[in-house]
Amino acid sequence: MVYYRHYCPYCNHVTGLSLRGYGVRLGSGSQTCSSCERTFKDGTKEWPELTPQEKREFLWKDQWILASMWVIFLAIGAYKRGFSNLMFLVATAPFFAFFLLSMTIRGFQILSSKQRAK
Ligand SMILES: [Zn+2]
Repeated sequence: MVYYRHYCPYCNHVTGLSLRGYGVRLGSGSQTCSSCERTFKDGTKEWPELTPQEKREFLWKDQWILASMWVIFLAIGAYKRGFSNLMFLVATAPFFAFFLLSMTIRGFQILSSKQRAK
């Protein structure tokens, strides 16, 4: 897994880690540095402020890779019936589980963003 570090623009203190250093990130838009206590814009937005395209991007930016892998496995499984159903389930479960897990995490991020935006 690749982590991205976010730095305070004033003192270069590390203010956070995220899995996604690119694209849409949810947050109040500004942060206070725990080291120098200055407030800076961190490029985040709350969910209600996002455009429909940004919402799609937030949900699907890397999800589509997992989803399409799973669909490819489904297609192969349907094509090659030699693969037993149980084997197939075992082979594809990690992709599906990971997909569900990251969708769940994103759901929680959206909920807490909506709370903050109130
Ligand atoms: Zn700082």
